[in-house]
Amino acid sequence: MTVDPLTTRILDRGEHALARLAAMREADPPTTGGRVLSYVYDSGLSELDQLAMRAARLAHGVNGLDPTVFASVAQIHGGIISRTRSILGAGAGAGASAGVGAQAVAGVDAGTAVDGDVFGSVTSGGTESCILACLAAREVRGRSPGDGGTIVAPVSAHAAFRKAAHLLGLRFDGVEVDPVTGRVAAADLLAAVDENTVLVVCSAPSYPTGVIDPVAEVAAGLEAGHDPRIGLHVDACLGGLVLPFWPDTPAGPTMPEWDLRVARVTSISADLHKYGFAPKGTSVLLSRGRTRHRAAWFATVDWPGYPVVNPTLAGSKPLEPAAAAWVVLEALGEDGQRELVSRTAGATQALVEGLSAIEGMTLLDRDPGPLIAVAVDEHAPREQRVHPHRWADACGRRGIAVQAQPAYGQAGRSALSSSSHLTVTPVTHTMVDEILRVATDAADEVRGLPAPRPPAGFSDVLDALAAGTLTPDDILALPEDDIHTMVTGVLGGDHEPGEATGMASLIAAIEALPDAVGARLVRAYLAAVTEV
Ligand SMILES: *Cc1c(COP(=O)(O)O)cnc(C)c1O
Repeated sequence: MTVDPLTTRILDRGEHALARLAAMREADPPTTGGRVLSYVYDSGLSELDQLAMRAARLAHGVNGLDPTVFASVAQIHGGIISRTRSILGAGAGAGASAGVGAQAVAGVDAGTAVDGDVFGSVTSGGTESCILACLAAREVRGRSPGDGGTIVAPVSAHAAFRKAAHLLGLRFDGVEVDPVTGRVAAADLLAAVDENTVLVVCSAPSYPTGVIDPVAEVAAGLEAGHDPRIGLHVDACLGGLVLPFWPDTPAGPTMPEWDLRVARVTSISADLHKYGFAPKGTSVLLSRGRTRHRAAWFATVDWPGYPVVNPTLAGSKPLEPAAAAWVVLEALGEDGQRELVSRTAGATQALVEGLSAIEGMTLLDRDPGPLIAVAVDEHAPREQRVHPHRWADACGRRGIAVQAQPAYGQAGRSALSSSSHLTVTPVTHTMVDEILRVATDAADEVRGLPAPRPPAGFSDVLDALAAGTLTPDDILALPEDDIHTMVTGVLGGDHEPGEATGMASLIAAIEALPDAVGARLVRAYLAAVTEV
């Protein structure tokens, strides 16, 4: 048998490309092992990752665009939706929640607002789930892009809702939070609701603060006299597959109600690629009522091609991530998920205790859940204080990656302070001692140092802004090439792709600049890293 020469050439070049890929991946931070405390969610079980990869291989080649052709798409998606629906308090069947819903909607026109049954879409990630929740809310409320329809959310809601507003022609109305606790008052959220509101958002929990918003109180407030077509979305992208399994600790804070058992909640997002321990690319949006569920879909027959029905933003889409997520869900089962979450909770508790004991730092207010945010201890004497961003860089130099979060200015209240974020996962329980050793050494290294300064090259711009000789609008009017030159010049020339840089001074620049300018600069920064 002769071998096709084309095959030989392809295999040869393919092997070279694979070797280069392996070398590139060597240079990445490790996605497993617990040294990276954001971005990655490691069950600690490599066998689970192997199952996910076998599932992806079996799903390879399918086009998720059309479940009428590829029946496995509907079955996989259905399996994910019924599992997550039951985890999130709606019972396993679409009709299982009818009793709960029906009670709450007495007097409400079923089909417009909160009719009982819960339906779901499998999306590519949390951002897409949140965007679709906002789209459905705009449609259910009968609003058009640019007509003033509003998303009301605590300022601590994920940036995905600002993105949704940007894309969908809605307004994002951020409600300020208590600067010390990070908590929004339900009354403040409700006070922002008016005839333009299409959606109210609560997080369970908020990514930057770890706070679970007062879902039940907001729900009760909405039931008392507000238009039933106003959506109440719970963003459980992070919490959806971890909070339902979080162990009760008699002494600890109690878990508030936040899921679909709260009847006025109209939609909920939950990411399988976070605490579902699935590969990146799978999230769900669950919606109460067929009307809201289908309001997020796009359908047209107004073109010469096949009839288009897209429940999510993509057209053609892979089945691989969803198939992997489904197999992981099935493999873990309720008991497996509970055990992994219990390891996560144990590690979280140990880290909370250890980090709290480090002089000069303090932990932000906590609800049950796997997120930790540390800030400077303002009560410590100046020479004892540990700045969270200097600390994050110092941890990074020691091989433990934590995520710097800029201070957030609020017009009507004090700012949320600079912090650093840790996402705890099951694997963390094997790393607690090392993380705390690194955390302590890093704090010792930077204790007493002043807050980081923006890069020196920005000082002219910052001085001119402060003096008023330059306005934010002047900067925003600059052509993109000028912005590019400014950013690459200040940050030390062109960047190697993926080059690791200390983030403290860049974050300091973001803190010092108006938001719109900061956004323009971080865009240029990412472009400089990725441009070829
Ligand atoms: C991660 C996250 C999102 C966005 O999800 P992506 O999967 O990154 O698109 C939205 N909300 C919260 C609370 C999150 O943690």
